[in-house]
Amino acid sequence: MTSLADIRSTFLNFYARNGHTIVPSSPLVPRNDPTLMFTNSGMVQFKNRFTGVETGDYSRATTAQKCVRAGGKHNDLDNVGYTARHHTFFEMLGNFSFGDYFKESAIPFAWELLTKDFGINKDRLLVTVYHTDDEAANIWKKVAGLSDDRIIRIPTNDNFWMMGPTGPCGPCTEIFYDHGDHIAGGPPGSPDEDGDRFIEIWNLVFMQFEQFEDGTRAGLPKPSIDTGMGLERIGALLQGKHDNYDTDLMRALIEASAHATSNDPDGPGKVHHRVIADHLRSTSFLIADGVMPSNEGRGYVLRRIMRRAMRHAHMLGAKDPVMYRLVPALVREMGAAYPELGRAQALIEETLRTEETRFKQTLDRGLRLLDDELAHLPGDADLPGATAFKLYDTYGFPLDLTQDALREKNRKVDTAGFDAAMEEQKAKARAAWAGSGEQADASVWFDLVEKNGPTEFLGYDTLTAEGQV
Ligand code: ATP
Ligand code: MG
Ligand code: MG
Ligand code: MG
Repeated sequence: MTSLADIRSTFLNFYARNGHTIVPSSPLVPRNDPTLMFTNSGMVQFKNRFTGVETGDYSRATTAQKCVRAGGKHNDLDNVGYTARHHTFFEMLGNFSFGDYFKESAIPFAWELLTKDFGINKDRLLVTVYHTDDEAANIWKKVAGLSDDRIIRIPTNDNFWMMGPTGPCGPCTEIFYDHGDHIAGGPPGSPDEDGDRFIEIWNLVFMQFEQFEDGTRAGLPKPSIDTGMGLERIGALLQGKHDNYDTDLMRALIEASAHATSNDPDGPGKVHHRVIADHLRSTSFLIADGVMPSNEGRGYVLRRIMRRAMRHAHMLGAKDPVMYRLVPALVREMGAAYPELGRAQALIEETLRTEETRFKQTLDRGLRLLDDELAHLPGDADLPGATAFKLYDTYGFPLDLTQDALREKNRKVDTAGFDAAMEEQKAKARAAWAGSGEQADASVWFDLVEKNGPTEFLGYDTLTAEGQV
């Protein structure tokens, strides 16, 4: 079986052979982009190369980039456990041209790698192009011999990429693999395209234009290429699996979870193991890159992911902290490719253990409260916002944790009620300050709170920072 590690190096070596410099993954916390919560694609570290702000000594690069999509514009947290293809942490394989080659080479490179080096059956592959991009459609026809019905023209922004409101932008072409009609889902562009039958494996972006503030666009003098392929998705395919979570690496983590909780990896707790395996990766890699749990910003997203994982471990009947015990398995699987994991192993274990020990104290009681409340609610009624707020305020349940718990039961939270309860508490706190005779100081304090988030658990206001990718 071709391991994910083999696939990673086959990819990088293919592009190195074709004149690309192998560049290491950049950290998950973007170095020079405060608008972006986490690195969520391979191009992030190259933004300044694409805009021309920076130059470098190579014009072709290839990477395996650590990515987290758990906040901002790209947030796959709610997909984990529900689709075959989404993680919060994944590796994106990419090749980049900085004003060097363009579509005429990017498409043949991708096709050669997929069908020759990886040996994928071309009858299972189909592609999308932006509806007006005849150039890309013609290259596909010529290079791959795909029939017209396998080159799907998409008129939406799914196939038009923009770095931000201004800056480089352009059409993209995406490559899909048909896992077969025994799986639910339609081809890209169809109403049920979100199913898991046709899985998007690779996105090739053609940076062709520059978008200006007044909405006009001009052609870039030197168009560029940015591509991204999910290692776990191509890995599943090459290992004859449909599901990312059945790849060698994810499977090892799932088995570690099953072992640590004395559960069957494929039993009724299957989904919990998947979520735990996924969240183990994102939390460990975030800590290795210097993010620590806190009540605001990046640290709060980390804490939310950890707590979600801890609830899933609780659902598996775990009495003691579990997550930290899985770290050695992760280091075994990924430590060679990412030495920072091994270096931070003790810190990761200690952070997870402390967080889980602390949260355990309120988790059990909070979940009991939630069950009691649900038992008293009629049929499919939403959980009252006040209850969700109490869970948040008193038991440390991030709203998304409560929503995740309810989703298993096909229930929802009244989020408007939750917001109202949050506002009410803020107003009360304000009133208390106003009555203390320290008004001048209080207003300064509240300005800081609005800006930075309060001290305990109230991090939502700070979670809206948009990714731009
Ligand atoms: P999808 O439509 O399946 O959510 P996407 O269009 O959001 O994918 P891109 O932003 O185009 O994905 O990212 C490039 C590639 O990265 C995708 O083609 C896919 O192979 C991979 N990828 C994206 N999101 C994830 C994820 N959450 N987990 C694993 N792989 C991912
Ligand atoms: Mg997506
Ligand atoms: Mg997509
Ligand atoms: Mg895509």
